[in-house]
Amino acid sequence: MTCSTYRGRFAPSPTGPLHAGSLVAALASWLDARAHHGTWLVRIEDIDPPRCPSGADQLILAQLAQCGLHPDEPVVWQSQRHSYYAQALQQLQAQQLAYPCGCTRKDIEAALQAMGQVHARHIERPYPGTCRGGLHGKPARSWRFALEKYVSNWPQTLATQAQAAPFSLEKGILTWEDRRLGPQHQAPTLVAGDFVLQRADGLYAYQLAVVVDDALQGITHIVRGEDLTVNTARQLLLQHALGLAHPAYMHTPLVLMPDGEKLSKQHGAPALDLSHPLQTLNTAARILHLTTLSPETTVSDALSQWVKQWQATYNVRRD
Ligand code: GLU
Repeated sequence: MTCSTYRGRFAPSPTGPLHAGSLVAALASWLDARAHHGTWLVRIEDIDPPRCPSGADQLILAQLAQCGLHPDEPVVWQSQRHSYYAQALQQLQAQQLAYPCGCTRKDIEAALQAMGQVHARHIERPYPGTCRGGLHGKPARSWRFALEKYVSNWPQTLATQAQAAPFSLEKGILTWEDRRLGPQHQAPTLVAGDFVLQRADGLYAYQLAVVVDDALQGITHIVRGEDLTVNTARQLLLQHALGLAHPAYMHTPLVLMPDGEKLSKQHGAPALDLSHPLQTLNTAARILHLTTLSPETTVSDALSQWVKQWQATYNVRRD
């Protein structure tokens, strides 16, 4: 039964089948929606087709069904929603909050080096701002969000917007509340800077697509893996700039490999064994601090028991 205003979602990128880590996020978002008597959606984030092998989306949907996790509304695919992302980009362009960038990866590396910022490759560094004031004769490649400008104009920006912000932004530090992790702080100009909205190959960036779709689908609560926490500040700012509602955020524990690395396809996450769905769900439930249930339990009984536990464990007040 769905009767509250709660709308949650699971939004996998179909870069491969579900693994133990993505199942935790799927289960958590489903349990949270059910615990609130809300609606649970699945959105396939195939925004970057070269990274999405054909058939992975259908495999994910079949795996979710095997686990008893059925979406309440038709599934949507981001690859079919480009016109919405284009509209949002046009809105930001009209607000002078998006600007074209002519930098290649090499140009950015060189500019960062010249600024004395040399870090390990895997560390995300903010865009050095080369094209912020114009393209200097270079052809436009991508479009960036004018995050530095948005942050530096913050108190005035907030005053002119009708909507309240569920976060504070003081001295460049954005503070928001995560339902599981508690208060979170980030300096978005140091972590992200003017991030990409549309890439040089014309594809829209995850940050833009996710914010647009969460709003268009009326998502009120986002429950996803802790590795995505770092994106939240960027998404809150983008929602604010676009005048969109802000969902509540909750980031769930990650499944770690024995070496402490996050389980992921790149780190060779083994395929989920769904020959015994309850066993696989039990493993995900344990990560979420829920009870492991005996093998005789049916999947649907297990899910009902975990919904009750979820309400107690995560202090869910029903709307
Ligand atoms: N598509 C993203 C991923 O699979 C998740 C996006 C989100 O939940 O915000 O990592």
